[in-house]
Amino acid sequence: MTTPASTADRAYPYLLAPLDLGYTTLRNRVVMGSMHTGMEDKAAEFPDLAAFFAARARGGVGLIITGGFAPTLEGMFYPGASKLTSRRELDRHRLITDAVHAEGGKIALQILHAGRYSYHPMSVSASAIKSPITPFKPRALSEWGIRRTIAGFARTASLAQEAGYDGVEIMGSEGYFINQFLAPRTNKRTDRWGGSPENRRRIAVEIVRAVREAVGPEFIIVYRISVLDLVEEGQTWDEVVDLAREIEAAGATMLNLGIGWHEARVPTIVTSVPRAAFVSLAGRLKKDVSIPVIATNRINMPEIAEDILARGDGDLVSMARPLLADPDWVRKAERDADEEINTCIACNQACLDHTFTRTRASCLVNPRAGYETELILTPVDRVKKVAVVGAGPAGLACATALAERGHVVDLYEAQDSIGGQFAIAQRIPGKEEFAETIRYYTVQLERLGVRVHLGTPATPELIEGEQFDEVVIATGVEPRIPQIEGVDHPSVMTYAELVLGEKVPGDSVAVIGAGGIGVDVSEFLTHLDSPTLDLKAWQEEWGVGDPAETRGGLTTPQPEPSPREVFLIQRKTSTIGRGLGKTTGWVHRAALKAKGVQQITGATYDRIDDAGLHLTVTTMKRGVPRGVQKVTATLPGPLKQMLPRSLTKVAQEVDRVEQVTLPVDTVVLCAGQESVRTLADELAARGVRTHIIGGADVAAELDAKRAIRQGTELAARL
Ligand code: FAD
Ligand code: NAP
Ligand code: SF4
Repeated sequence: MTTPASTADRAYPYLLAPLDLGYTTLRNRVVMGSMHTGMEDKAAEFPDLAAFFAARARGGVGLIITGGFAPTLEGMFYPGASKLTSRRELDRHRLITDAVHAEGGKIALQILHAGRYSYHPMSVSASAIKSPITPFKPRALSEWGIRRTIAGFARTASLAQEAGYDGVEIMGSEGYFINQFLAPRTNKRTDRWGGSPENRRRIAVEIVRAVREAVGPEFIIVYRISVLDLVEEGQTWDEVVDLAREIEAAGATMLNLGIGWHEARVPTIVTSVPRAAFVSLAGRLKKDVSIPVIATNRINMPEIAEDILARGDGDLVSMARPLLADPDWVRKAERDADEEINTCIACNQACLDHTFTRTRASCLVNPRAGYETELILTPVDRVKKVAVVGAGPAGLACATALAERGHVVDLYEAQDSIGGQFAIAQRIPGKEEFAETIRYYTVQLERLGVRVHLGTPATPELIEGEQFDEVVIATGVEPRIPQIEGVDHPSVMTYAELVLGEKVPGDSVAVIGAGGIGVDVSEFLTHLDSPTLDLKAWQEEWGVGDPAETRGGLTTPQPEPSPREVFLIQRKTSTIGRGLGKTTGWVHRAALKAKGVQQITGATYDRIDDAGLHLTVTTMKRGVPRGVQKVTATLPGPLKQMLPRSLTKVAQEVDRVEQVTLPVDTVVLCAGQESVRTLADELAARGVRTHIIGGADVAAELDAKRAIRQGTELAARL
């Protein structure tokens, strides 16, 4: 591919090249991929949604795609979820399109029919086969129902056009309704909508054709095509290519790639997935169609995006989360200021995990995402001299936001480098992206003129001597040392000592505590000394193959064996990893299983000595209480599925109690953390008023999401 002439002198000539579609031009190759924020579901939140999109348009995005809107009632995610089916709903959408257009942006509405992924008893699909991740068995659509659904897509597209959108995206991937017709896994029909590949793809093609007829030639239609289903009985590559060609012929403007169904047991976007892991499929598909192809998944920095486009693995790149993390991503790429980008670390903690728990989506590294109208960093009228103590996530967020508002900030950090606990996190295999956040803050501190004092433990004398107007305590946490006999044995180390390389583990290790850090430490211990996974190793670990060779692109996983034996232990009797993120917990659990980590629950720690770790392990019986069983058995199926978990809760009673000795040579403590409050207490004793944030405030259930949000919110108030 030759360098585009119009942008040859720019930092990223391919990325910043306009795309002329004939009737309209996209200003660059950056597409903000669809992401459900939760605001789509409530009419009252459309002004916030408009402000959210306007910020991304102002930041230079070429084409924004909204979260999904259902074309029919059955296609809604859950009762009351977003849909666009009537003209009554248009006014609220005009808020969005006007706001985006006022910033020079373009926006397409995504039409998403959830099919069997709906959370309601009216769900429909190609066949009546329940998904493994939703409780409702769908009804197989009749011929009439299919016709009505196709018409629904066309009507929603017309309404979107009337509301001022520049186009629509038809969601045909991630295992949703259209994808359910495409794959033999979910389409067992024997009529003209099932059986042969041609029949299975008929609905997708007819939807695109009907939408094109409804909107005319000068309207963008993006079709989201699943190129790698990552489920058994998924599509073959030949089927994908034939579908792409027919979709093009039916009138689509471009193809956006979709990777993996939601029920797939292969991670596709979490932080441990190597960057740009799937883009070669876009390059392959491009050879078979003449419309533009959008590459996607784990693209988060301009250099990666530029490489993809320059080598022909796509005509555009789609990013959703990176634009949540930094609405000015494109503007920074235009200025060749990548180091100023607040990079998405693919943690899912404040975006997808929120979506799945029906909380408004935001971003761990940018808590202002989704709160553009509420969390505002206004310039200050009166400049204050502020001390921030501790350069972990809380202190960093607070110091930079204060400086951005115009305050004079001194940041004190006891260690020789910034990051706090987050600097430990970045050393965990699969969490390498966390280093980007530390790089971002390093650059921000410098750019905003924060006076950083590294290797300087703040003391009450120092703080009092400097006469600050405000003092912020962000001294964070330290590992908890549990009261176990022998905890001072030479075999024992904290997670910080292990991960920072201060102590070396042996061949057999017990990890005490199975929270987020215990799980991370187990991953650290079961990977080889050079932790960063390359693409090939990652594909082998998760069984990702070539869809041209196996249906759905699945092969047998072949993880590298662990270099040591690891036991992961907790006192609770519940399943390990329960408290991990909704969209990432299963990945950690699967990774631990693949590496052979032995999990022990219901443990009491008796002592640690030369023989190893001595435990008393209580095993519980599991079963639904008979009384509950009797009641639920009498209910009709759909009602049974709607029962809250508390009613089907598992009853527990002790099965057996055993004394166990694990003959390990290393014990790693991951038993939670305690707040570091010494300075705060000393200052309070001297009558100095302080603001306490992050782990120093509350250690329980602390994570970087809360630390950064608390730091930013405080800075917005001071
Ligand atoms: P800290 O990070 O503890 O920072 C406090 C800072 O204050 C430290 O740098 C300390 O040196 C400094 N300090 C203390 N006293 C003084 C003093 N008197 N003077 C000057 N400086 C002082 N969170 C997530 O959200 N997602 C994850 O995936 C995740 N993974 C993790 C994995 C691991 C292995 C670890 C260890 C943590 C992980 N965390 C994760 C947790 C996250 O890192 C913490 O919640 C976060 O760092 C807490 O931020 P903080 O600023 O409150 O405190
Ligand atoms: P945590 O999640 O609170 O887990 C602490 C573990 O230690 C628990 O398993 C607890 O389980 C055990 N424990 C507590 N007190 C103990 C004691 N006195 N003796 C023995 N065991 C004890 O905390 P964490 O693992 O330290 O993680 C800190 C924070 O970082 C978390 O809140 C988490 O949000 C964040 N983090 C997040 C991720 C992520 O991927 N999202 C990853 C890492 C960390 P029992 O009481 O059952 O033994
Ligand atoms: Fe990215 Fe995490 Fe922010 Fe989501 S919450 S946008 S994954 S950094």
